[in-house]
Amino acid sequence: MSGRKTHDEAASLAAGHAAGYCWMPRPGGGGRCTRRPGHDDDHVDFYNGRQSITDVEGYRWRQR
Ligand SMILES: [Zn+2]
Repeated sequence: MSGRKTHDEAASLAAGHAAGYCWMPRPGGGGRCTRRPGHDDDHVDFYNGRQSITDVEGYRWRQR
């Protein structure tokens, strides 16, 4: 993984920030952080990666 951002990625990040999300892509894909920008602690995707309908949050991963 090079970590470079494509134009589409930059545009997506801008859209996510405009919506009030951190929007950090999950390593390995499948989700993005939906906490507020600049948050502390782990990144969390509240919409993707939930194991059941009753789960409060889905994917969670650590900030670098
Ligand atoms: Zn985040």
